[in-house]
Amino acid sequence: MSPAPAEQAPIRNDSVRHWLLGGIACLCLFAGGPLLAADGEDFAAMLQRADAVKTVDPAEFTRLIDQLHAQLDNLSGQQREHLQYLQGWRLAYAGEYAAAIPMLESLADKASDPTIQFRASVTATNVQMLATRYEGAFLQLNKLLNKLPEVTDKDARLQGMSVAADLYVLVGEYDLGIHYAERVAEENARGRGICRGEQIRLDALCKTKRITADDPALPAAIDACLRQGESMAANGIRSTQARLFLRENRVDEAINLLERYYSEVEQTRYPRGISEWESLMAQAYQRRGAGVNAQRMALRAAEHSVKNQFTLPLVGAYRVLYEETEKQGDISSAIAYLKKSAAADKAYLDDVTARQLAYERVKSNTLSTKSQLEALNQENKLLQLQRELDGKAAETSRLYIALLLLVLVFIALWAYRTKRSQLHFMKLSQVDSLTGIANRPRFIQLAEAVLEAARKSQQQASVVLCDLDHFKSINDRFGHAAGDHVLRQAVLACQGHLRVSDIFGRVGGEEFGIVLPGCGLEDAIQRAERLRIALNAIEPQYDGERCLVSGSFGVTSTEQSGYELRQLLAHADAALYRAKDAGRDRVMPYDGKTVDAARPDPVDDNELRNVGHA
Ligand code: GH3
Ligand code: MG
Ligand code: MG
Repeated sequence: MSPAPAEQAPIRNDSVRHWLLGGIACLCLFAGGPLLAADGEDFAAMLQRADAVKTVDPAEFTRLIDQLHAQLDNLSGQQREHLQYLQGWRLAYAGEYAAAIPMLESLADKASDPTIQFRASVTATNVQMLATRYEGAFLQLNKLLNKLPEVTDKDARLQGMSVAADLYVLVGEYDLGIHYAERVAEENARGRGICRGEQIRLDALCKTKRITADDPALPAAIDACLRQGESMAANGIRSTQARLFLRENRVDEAINLLERYYSEVEQTRYPRGISEWESLMAQAYQRRGAGVNAQRMALRAAEHSVKNQFTLPLVGAYRVLYEETEKQGDISSAIAYLKKSAAADKAYLDDVTARQLAYERVKSNTLSTKSQLEALNQENKLLQLQRELDGKAAETSRLYIALLLLVLVFIALWAYRTKRSQLHFMKLSQVDSLTGIANRPRFIQLAEAVLEAARKSQQQASVVLCDLDHFKSINDRFGHAAGDHVLRQAVLACQGHLRVSDIFGRVGGEEFGIVLPGCGLEDAIQRAERLRIALNAIEPQYDGERCLVSGSFGVTSTEQSGYELRQLLAHADAALYRAKDAGRDRVMPYDGKTVDAARPDPVDDNELRNVGHA
């Protein structure tokens, strides 16, 4: 930063800086919008109107604000925020910075309406600057400039850039100030940008001595402001022109200009602006030798100046008073004014130093924050990368797990299907497909298990063998299908008389074996008798011809034959033979005689051995 010469060696008549900054420049930005009728207008319209007239009609502005405040309970949340903003603005306008700042800052932090939030924050920055809290102002400015790209409201954008331009001019960064002033003019929200931007730009050009009083940009900017009803801004530019006249020793033209608009300036009720205008007038009168007028104006300037604020105009006013009283020989007054002038001058220079220091401090802080942010950014990028890598690794493991699960599911499914088909085949291999009862091997397996259990518990059991009589002739007479049908019917008939614990199996073509656990010989004979009767009852008819069904039964029990299945079956078979011989369709118990050698063993040794391993 290169401090501006004007700041290093303040020029006394360079006195409207603060007015430009505080009064016309920033606080009047939002003056605008159509002026509405006062009668019957609703709150929204009243707020809009107050906003519009706040710099052009201070009395009306005050009236509207007070009226709205009285109706506070009836305002919506957003309307209250708007009113609060205008009240903060009014306090700032009246120089009551200590009260204005917290009000505006609270709105800048908490307002729900983003535009009001931004406007409040801009005005807060501006007031902080006016209250010489420079560091706060510059910090806030940084925030504003960061937020600026997101702000769409043209008025708010204009306000933000205006504050930036003002602050940069204030610290002597004139080119930066001019840059923002030109952007304000380009933005030209509601035609107000040219007035506002040109006002700052011309002031900066005046301070850097890059403009003369006859520059056509001056009247053009004044016209632009007047077209917008911005008389204060117009007067701000006129004050720049007056300074230029004085600089060019065109004292009369300066006085003419200042006198012509003095009453207009007075009507603004903006003490700071009035004081600065009066200081400029005092200096102009003094230059012309009009000591009385100069002294009168300087006194007024001192009177209107903001308490405890040491501005260049105040320094200038005390200087005029000192020189005039000295000329009049009023030495004691002269000494008093000299002291005041020196004190104000020192305070002003302190202020210049303070604001430049603040600017430098914030700038270097910002730079270090920036580099810290940069470092943080890099760190974040690294972390992000790491996270992405971790994510990818996790994704890969998830994929593997999913694949593994899929394989496991397939294996389980395959195992299940295999088991199921195994069970299916096992069942098929154990069940007689025609009748659905145990086949021969299964019958032997179950029968052995039951007999073993009976042997262990020393319980009786009986074995019955049944062979259908003349079955061959059924096949021959009615066909093989009829024979099959009779076989199924015979099984169903027997099942109706068997217990769940009994073992029932098809041991040959038309031959069935039954094991009756817990049953002695007599019981077994009776039960076999019931089965025989059940077979007789089947009597199916084929082609109108009755088919008589009967069976011969051989019975033995463990009491006679022991627990060996082979023995039991052989003895039952012998009894069955006796039944056949005796004329069939009957039940015969084993009579203790040996088996007929002509009849083949119902179950051979091999079969029993194999079943044992099944
Ligand atoms: P017996 O009274 O002496 O026992 O005379 P039988 O005709 O019943 O005995 P035999 O041993 O001479 O004939 C048995 C017949 O059973 C021979 C066979 O065709 C028939 N048979 C065996 N299994 C089946 C089968 O599953 N379905 C049909 N329809 N017939 C069968
Ligand atoms: Mg037979
Ligand atoms: Mg038979």
